[in-house]
Amino acid sequence: MHKTVIIGTGPAGLTAAIYLARANMEPLVIEGWQPGGQLTTTTEIENFPGFPEGILGSELMSNMRKQAQRFGATFRNGSVKSVDFSKRPYTLDVEGIGEIQAESVIISTGASAKYLGIPGEQENIGRGVSTCATCDGFFFRNKKLIIVGGGDSAMEEAVFLTRFASEVTVVNRRDELRASKIMQDRARANEKISWNLNKTPLEIVPGEMGLKGLKVLNNATGEEEFVEADGVFITIGHTPNTKFLGGQIDTDEQGYIIVKPGTSETNIPGVFACGDVQDRQYRQAITAAGSGCMAALDAERFLEAQSHDAVHA
Ligand SMILES: Cc1cc2nc3c(=O)[nH]c(=O)nc-3n(C[C@H](O)[C@H](O)[C@H](O)COP(=O)(O)OP(=O)(O)OC[C@H]3O[C@@H](n4cnc5c(N)ncnc54)[C@H](O)[C@@H]3O)c2cc1C
Repeated sequence: MHKTVIIGTGPAGLTAAIYLARANMEPLVIEGWQPGGQLTTTTEIENFPGFPEGILGSELMSNMRKQAQRFGATFRNGSVKSVDFSKRPYTLDVEGIGEIQAESVIISTGASAKYLGIPGEQENIGRGVSTCATCDGFFFRNKKLIIVGGGDSAMEEAVFLTRFASEVTVVNRRDELRASKIMQDRARANEKISWNLNKTPLEIVPGEMGLKGLKVLNNATGEEEFVEADGVFITIGHTPNTKFLGGQIDTDEQGYIIVKPGTSETNIPGVFACGDVQDRQYRQAITAAGSGCMAALDAERFLEAQSHDAVHA
């Protein structure tokens, strides 16, 4: 039986682990299929406060893990397959470990960016391929960029990237964009943005330094074409990692966990959510870490209230 089990080891889960460990709550942390979370898939992080020269994503996460371990957090490999939140203590079925029982649970399983699944994509993440304009736009001063996608986020990121890039080309599989009219109008009014619509991305082509560009299929002519670019931003959405919850926690229509505003509380008492798994808007390391702190403090207060009630029952 554990007082608190934290699911996930990105900035949200590890910050929660640091706070709970320092509060003597001996949290158990389940690492999941991606120990250290999304930041381990990138290189330099330049916007996490406290590192004026920047820090490698893997190093930042390894530091957070060591900090949590130093105060007594325990880590176990494995992914949570399913949960039973129908009665307390709550039960988690963890691959490779078996059933674990917990008085409270913090869910910090993140949201995975959707990728195109084309050659040249995965191997060039952090080397010209990105899913986050806020994170990586700064690295592309006076460079040519491509945005793949046609929704509101794609339009927003295209406009944002024109602050740095010499030119931004929007590539979209269909002729029509999914984005709202107001977002499309904003992007269309920007002289640095050009449009390559009705084109299916086929392959991201690396160069000697960075990328060469994107090979696309012109859906109208059936011909292959090449769009030159130093960077390709893929903005086709995110999938929150909430499937294993089996519908026991309230989520929005995209699967993001709904928390009570201003807290990390879910619809189940003693189950808290933090980081990208409950944040469709910001999805940054620092916001994930901040909400991890909130979840730890919420869990601590919840357990405190439980033991007080038990003593005075
Ligand atoms: C390439 C890239 C570059 C980025 N660059 C920046 C940047 O420069 N600055 C910035 O602020 N943000 C950046 N981000 C965004 C940032 O990485 C995320 O906002 C942040 O990692 C979210 O943290 P999190 O803790 O919510 O989740 P994540 O980091 O996504 O971690 C999720 C954790 O949950 C675990 N997990 C998932 N499912 C299960 C399960 N069923 N059981 C157990 N564990 C599970 C995973 O193993 C993982 O450890 C970048 C993201 C990417 C992809």
